[in-house]
Amino acid sequence: MRPTVPACLLVLALAGPLLAQPTLTGQEQRIRAAIAASREDQVAYLQRVVDIPSATLDLAGVRRVADVFRASFDSLGFTTTWVPMPDAMRRAGHLVAEHRGRPGAVRILLIGHFDTVVEPDGPNFARQDSMAHAVGGGDMKGGDVIILYALRALQAAGALKDLNVTAVFTGDEEHPGEPLDAARRALIDAGHANDVALAFEGGSRSVATVARRGSSAWRITATGRQAHSAGVFGRGAGYGAIYEVARILDAFRSQLAGEQYLTFNAAAIVGGTDVTFDTVEVSGTAATKLNIVPRSAVVAGDLRFMTPEQLQRTRERMRAIVAQHLPGTDAQITFIDEYPAMPLTEGNSRILAVYDTASQALGYGPVAPMDPGMRGAGDLSFVAPFMDGLEGLGALGTGAHAPEERVNLNALPMQTERAALTIERLGMKPAGEFGRREGQR
Ligand SMILES: [Zn+2]
Repeated sequence: MRPTVPACLLVLALAGPLLAQPTLTGQEQRIRAAIAASREDQVAYLQRVVDIPSATLDLAGVRRVADVFRASFDSLGFTTTWVPMPDAMRRAGHLVAEHRGRPGAVRILLIGHFDTVVEPDGPNFARQDSMAHAVGGGDMKGGDVIILYALRALQAAGALKDLNVTAVFTGDEEHPGEPLDAARRALIDAGHANDVALAFEGGSRSVATVARRGSSAWRITATGRQAHSAGVFGRGAGYGAIYEVARILDAFRSQLAGEQYLTFNAAAIVGGTDVTFDTVEVSGTAATKLNIVPRSAVVAGDLRFMTPEQLQRTRERMRAIVAQHLPGTDAQITFIDEYPAMPLTEGNSRILAVYDTASQALGYGPVAPMDPGMRGAGDLSFVAPFMDGLEGLGALGTGAHAPEERVNLNALPMQTERAALTIERLGMKPAGEFGRREGQR
């Protein structure tokens, strides 16, 4: 049975887009019409790329998805480059697509990725009314398709020729290759050649990301004097490696916990006389006897932070805590950089304002900043230290990183329209109006 909609609600539902029309230019109305006309084509494209399995370590699969997009960007008049990664890194590579428009206008970097966390057996796209079950459909082939169809609509409306746009699609966002600086060089280089960045990880009707935390790994290696347990705490045997790491972790928790946006999780621990710890697999073994003061202990965890200052200050405090060794013990802490922080900047807020205004002009309502603690790390973070950007402009969906992932097909036009108008409105402005100068934040 068809649900009956009260007439007043129907009027309200129609009034939004109708009232918003006057704030769209003729060109923008053509952009919107082009997106509406390609709606089913866009879903078919999404199905095509979802049906190519492309887990991060499926190098051939990632490459096949990239080839599909590359052909589409070529036909849009972009200059495309495939950037392979060295064999030893075991990652497919990245697609870079560049379009030159009017000199002196804002240059926009669009960020997507082709790899998925879950490795499906094969084609898995299954349409269910307005939704589709699709591994990688929301995170983030849906976002990639939003980028492509926004650009196609801009071209159809005659707007693309003036725009300076570079799209970078990484092949290993979900599990970046190492060393990180080599794995992210193409993205960072593209960042330096552009003024602002828009990233298309999972989207939302009402919020977008102007700030997100960065992450660092840490590892403590403690040593003690192997001795008979009867002598523990004594001058000869000392306290042992396990009491030393217990002291350190308790001091971390009691002295550092509770600061806004700062978290440091102890994720794995092994201690004893004979200890192994594999830092790649994050797994280890311990063996000893109950009557031995342990000589070795290892703890590993992560650290999340909102600004580089918060990271450096926290690392210094952790080092100072580690250095206060119990008698007869020693310990070191090492930190491994992962994702830089994306601190809130005035420029990020100004890009959000463009997106928000476009959303309202299209009748989709306001878009507010997302709680910075709510979004995990992503590729935009690698360029955020030196350029302004906005994240979370991708497809709406549920179940990212899980086999039950679903993507909302009905919301694709909304996300594509909002992306296209934001690219158009930003890209028509003189470069001096947006973008950060070196060292400014
Ligand atoms: Zn993702």
